[in-house]
Amino acid sequence: MKKEYCGLFGIYGHPEAARMAYFGLYALQHRGQESAGIVTWDGQKIREQKGMGLVADVFNEEHLGHQLKGQIAMGHLRYSTTGASLIRNSQPFLVRFKGMSIAVAHNGNLVNTYELRKELEEQGSIFQTTMDSEIIVHLISRYMNGYSFEEALSKAMSRIKGAYSLLILANDKLIAVRDPNGFRPLSIGRVGDSYVFASETCAFDLLEAEYLRCINPGEMVTIDRGSLISTSIAEIQAPSSCIFELIYFARPDSIVFGQEVYQARKRMGMVLARESSIEADFIMPFPDSGMYAGVGYAHESGLPFEMAMIRNHYVGRTFIQPTQDMRDFGVRVKLNPARSMIKNRNILIVEDSIVRGTTIKTRVKKLRELGAREIHMRVSCPPIRYPCYYGIDFSSKGELIAANHSVEAIARYIGLDSLHYLSIEGLLSALNNRQDFCLACFNGQYPVPPGPNCNKLCFEW
Ligand code: 5GP
Ligand code: MG
Repeated sequence: MKKEYCGLFGIYGHPEAARMAYFGLYALQHRGQESAGIVTWDGQKIREQKGMGLVADVFNEEHLGHQLKGQIAMGHLRYSTTGASLIRNSQPFLVRFKGMSIAVAHNGNLVNTYELRKELEEQGSIFQTTMDSEIIVHLISRYMNGYSFEEALSKAMSRIKGAYSLLILANDKLIAVRDPNGFRPLSIGRVGDSYVFASETCAFDLLEAEYLRCINPGEMVTIDRGSLISTSIAEIQAPSSCIFELIYFARPDSIVFGQEVYQARKRMGMVLARESSIEADFIMPFPDSGMYAGVGYAHESGLPFEMAMIRNHYVGRTFIQPTQDMRDFGVRVKLNPARSMIKNRNILIVEDSIVRGTTIKTRVKKLRELGAREIHMRVSCPPIRYPCYYGIDFSSKGELIAANHSVEAIARYIGLDSLHYLSIEGLLSALNNRQDFCLACFNGQYPVPPGPNCNKLCFEW
């Protein structure tokens, strides 16, 4: 399965560039916990440090204070929920050719990987990884005959299709790119004399950097000798920012696609309350993701808001696996209800999204066992019926419960007394720039058509 959420951070012209990148990635940790990497340019050569695991585990003082020298740095976080976690597939992806050192960090998912890789392999390219980023590097190298790096990059961009926000370190230049549809976020900011780039602005806040703006869809921003050059590298398409960044993925204190995530989620909850109100003793979210829509729902409906599910904040990805007969352990270890809140109560759960329905079913079952009288659910996004080919981790239709079940059937499966989803129109009314979003997971209208091979892996290591 493809899984390409990810986090990007870059900084140009800072005496503590590696340390800034470390903190930037730290703020973006929710975007990827599988691996982390930082590369720096010290004026002579590129240095790199990558590893599996969390930012705080991958880097130490030796890396940040000594090894990762230089005033330009960029970093990447990789996310994965299934499949083998491989250091080989961690980023930034670093290559050397024609006297240049080039590092690429990619967030998003291309839809013509298979075709491009096949073409390149037929021409003799040898690949080290299964990552889209490696294809981009190969394309750039092809196009560098007689062209500048930026021209070659721009030509490479015209070949790749799908979702990509990129940071590229090419010797002493730092380049940021967003695909012509603007699927994945990428923003630019400034701290002192340095330019900074990040997937989300929560990274700027931590570094006390000023948020300047989003990189535009189809824009290439190059920082060269301290100055910023903006060029249009592709014909801009109708903007199609990923709606799921606002619904679930981005941090609520971030600005992505020019809007604050907290307010967007809260408004989704408010619209949801208007669309489908119901009597209940109180509203509760499943923390953390459901909390912000829950707050909005409570404001609008006037029902009390309770945190009746308690979260263990220290659940990492690497706890020792329980034995087979400790069923649903993974769900229980993260959330546990406050018992007295549940017994004989009419509960309204406000949830941000239903994907497979499996974790939610287990949580609802637990509430039943504790004696809840009625359990209703309101979901702050429409039913997710279609796979995402642009980087969200529901890539096959079989996984999506709403792809082949009615809302009533989903309610039955999860064990709910009632279930209602926010309408597409209601969702859009909660957003600024409502016309600028990709809604393919709800309506199947794909802004960049996924080819027949877009789910095929070229080669599994
Ligand atoms: P379900 O029971 O439908 O599988 O789980 C839905 C829950 O997972 C929701 O609470 C939602 O916040 C969360 N969620 C939504 N999308 C993703 C995703 O891509 N990855 C992970 N880990 N959780 C997700
Ligand atoms: Mg959740």
